[in-house]
Amino acid sequence: MIIVMNNNVGEKAQLELKKEIKEMGLSIHESVGANFHLLGLVGDTQNVSVERFSRLNSVEKIIKVQEPYKKANRMFHPENTVVDILGTKIGDGNFKVIAGPCSVESEEQIVELAKEVKASGASFLRGGAFKPRTSPYSFQGLETEGISLLTKAREVTGLPIVSEIMGVKFLDQFIENVDIIQVGARNMQNFDLLKALGQINKPILLKRGLSATIEEWLMSAEYILAGGNKNVILCERGIRTFEKYTRNTLDLSAIPVIKKRSHLPVIVDPSHATGEWWMVESLAKAALAVGADGLMIEVHNNPEKALCDGYQSLKPKRFKQVMQKLNVLEKLLKELA
Ligand code: PEP
Ligand code: MN
Repeated sequence: MIIVMNNNVGEKAQLELKKEIKEMGLSIHESVGANFHLLGLVGDTQNVSVERFSRLNSVEKIIKVQEPYKKANRMFHPENTVVDILGTKIGDGNFKVIAGPCSVESEEQIVELAKEVKASGASFLRGGAFKPRTSPYSFQGLETEGISLLTKAREVTGLPIVSEIMGVKFLDQFIENVDIIQVGARNMQNFDLLKALGQINKPILLKRGLSATIEEWLMSAEYILAGGNKNVILCERGIRTFEKYTRNTLDLSAIPVIKKRSHLPVIVDPSHATGEWWMVESLAKAALAVGADGLMIEVHNNPEKALCDGYQSLKPKRFKQVMQKLNVLEKLLKELA
């Protein structure tokens, strides 16, 4: 339920109303803009009657919210959220690219790639240190050493770093070292982890689960927001369908849906979505055209020898060409808007 306040409501009436709401065991998500003042009621609002508030002079109208996600809901927060990562912004027209290898393999590899992707215009360096692999016999990542190699690459290039957290026990290490904490598709519904991430302030990149509906994905974001962490970026990375040709099926239609239903920034990962390097460029362009706030692209200097996901990784030279085309497309789209 959302209470739309009258524009000229006095301080005293506001305080009384807020007190009444809190006494009902609910919390308030307040949103104030140039022409609106909203109080979003968070908690169990099933039995709260509309009449209880609609009779008040301070209230212009009541909007019933059908969706189970509240803080992630655009009705609660009409303006686009912008996530600021060490001064670099994502969201509300700030289109940014995260690039780097699937996994960190050596200091030489990650530092070299960081320099290359930075020179091509990427704003963030990605690299997996703890890898969620289907087989326990596959390369599991360099783990803690991988995180420290990423921090070295950040030192050299100044690029903020993005890496995937696999569980609550790694939280301190990630808070200390990583700039955007990635929650992978397989952990999208690890509710203990989401709750813990809600208690911190670091930006979280929340990937869509392998077979998650948009509503389930937004409910996972809600877990983080409910804890008080407002810095959530969503990432569409393809979903499981009957199609076998591509690794996953990129659900581009999720982008306009998220934009309509939520205020959170949403980026696209065309690498995991397709599983094929030669499809990355087309889908990266499509993601930009459909309104995504950014991209996450896997880049590797020697894909044939990559320890993970080489077949979907771009070489630095091709990544540079894709970035140049994306720049042109971004300008064109701004003219059309
Ligand atoms: C990744 O980004 O390396 C990754 C494992 O992605 P996902 O969780 O989307 O499969
Ligand atoms: Mn990967």
